Amino acid sequence: AEAQLRQSQKMEAVGQLTGGLAHDFNNMLAVIVGSLNLLQRRLDKGETDVGRYVDAALDGAGRAAALTHRLLAFSRLQPLAPVPVDANRMVADMHDLLVRTLGEDVRIETVLAAGLWKAHADPSQLENVILNLCVNARDAMPDGGRLTIETNNASIDDDYGRDHEASPGQYVLISVSDTGSGMPADVVARAFDPFFTTKPPGKGTGLGLSQVFGFIRQSNGHVKIYSEPGHGTTLKVYLPRYRGPEEAPATTVRSDVGEAR
Ligand code: ADP
Repeated sequence: AEAQLRQSQKMEAVGQLTGGLAHDFNNMLAVIVGSLNLLQRRLDKGETDVGRYVDAALDGAGRAAALTHRLLAFSRLQPLAPVPVDANRMVADMHDLLVRTLGEDVRIETVLAAGLWKAHADPSQLENVILNLCVNARDAMPDGGRLTIETNNASIDDDYGRDHEASPGQYVLISVSDTGSGMPADVVARAFDPFFTTKPPGKGTGLGLSQVFGFIRQSNGHVKIYSEPGHGTTLKVYLPRYRGPEEAPATTVRSDVGEAR
């Protein structure tokens, strides 16, 4: 519990710093991209050296913008929009994307629970989380292997909750398992740390799992790593069960709720 608490404090501190930096950086990038676009329009249509330099600069700026968006997402400056989510359907809908992204050396298996509860989460962020976990799984299996995505209804009891700083209650569990390299205990301990990566420069940013951690905490969920070096890793993501009307309240005007004018 203490370790998780320290983790969230660390996340918060780094998140604030990164969020501020990313925000300012984004504004400067907007100036750069805007000016480059103007420059590009002034240039002759034909292929010129200058045109190619401008294209290269725009390409770099585009990648920098993508990174700042990741940083902003990680620092949680983007508000979440939680709705009832059918995780089974989400996993099924992602299947083709996963096959394309992970390549043919990774065998994908899905085990979807019957009667799965709805989760309460931001669907686009959750998709991002699943994708993140699957890409990490693939990276841990350079020679191929099996990726298993499993859903389940799960209850967190008082004992587990106390030990893991998780609120007892009912959750939708999404597990992502691989048959890859696994992580030694010291990597498990730091895996959620922002900017912690064991991947070569250019390959890893160390932001994937810290983003996952931030999203899940903000969603009042819980995440846990089980890993066996040489055998593989399972990440268990618990999202709170959605309680309430089937229709998302945001899309209907309720007459019993007064609105300020
Ligand atoms: P990145 O993928 O950019 O390195 P992450 O925050 O997603 O950043 O992951 C941090 C580190 O955790 C990785 O560099 C890797 O060492 C370890 N890791 C994450 N997922 C797995 C996995 N499925 N199997 C083995 N190691 C993993």
